[in-house]
Amino acid sequence: MNIIPAKSFDAFQLHAGQLVCIIDIEGGQVVDLTAFRLGDATEWLSNGRSFDYNSKLLFTTGDVLYSNKSRPMLTIVQDSVGRHDFLYTPCSEEMYRIQYGITGPYPNCLDNLRMALKTHHQEPAEIPTPFNVFMNVEIQIDGSIFVKEPVSTRGDKIILRAEMGLIVALSACPAPSCNGGKPKSVGYEVISQLVE
Ligand SMILES: [Zn+2]
Repeated sequence: MNIIPAKSFDAFQLHAGQLVCIIDIEGGQVVDLTAFRLGDATEWLSNGRSFDYNSKLLFTTGDVLYSNKSRPMLTIVQDSVGRHDFLYTPCSEEMYRIQYGITGPYPNCLDNLRMALKTHHQEPAEIPTPFNVFMNVEIQIDGSIFVKEPVSTRGDKIILRAEMGLIVALSACPAPSCNGGKPKSVGYEVISQLVE
């Protein structure tokens, strides 16, 4: 298993048909995931298109996540949690300043995803809204949304299958608030075949 230390990041390639298993090692830790088509930085994982073609906001086993060009990018093939977010933009230095009054540098998912992609020579102008694995957002009938503590516990995992060649970037979210008070490390494995 590859370990991403708390507040850190990583990126890797997936070929079509390969899978990535993301593991919440300690429990209650969000992992921001973004993906770009291998060799084409103009095609990325799109929350809006995924909402369009699934007619829902929350995704779990069996759901397909789409690109901005309306092609299947990732399919969720296993999910022991069933609660993830695809609404929130990645946390950023500006967000920590505006919402928490933190002045000066603070590790954040926006910079983490940028740095992770750069290790694979991808420098997109914008980072799209990530698929926020294990992030628990309560959506109320009046449209209000609240970030709550993840329901994932130690050892929980989600497995996604690549439907095209991808560069995938992951960030172990550094925010204390959405991670049960303390940012923690996460793990991932790239696997070629699903063993039931
Ligand atoms: Zn974050």
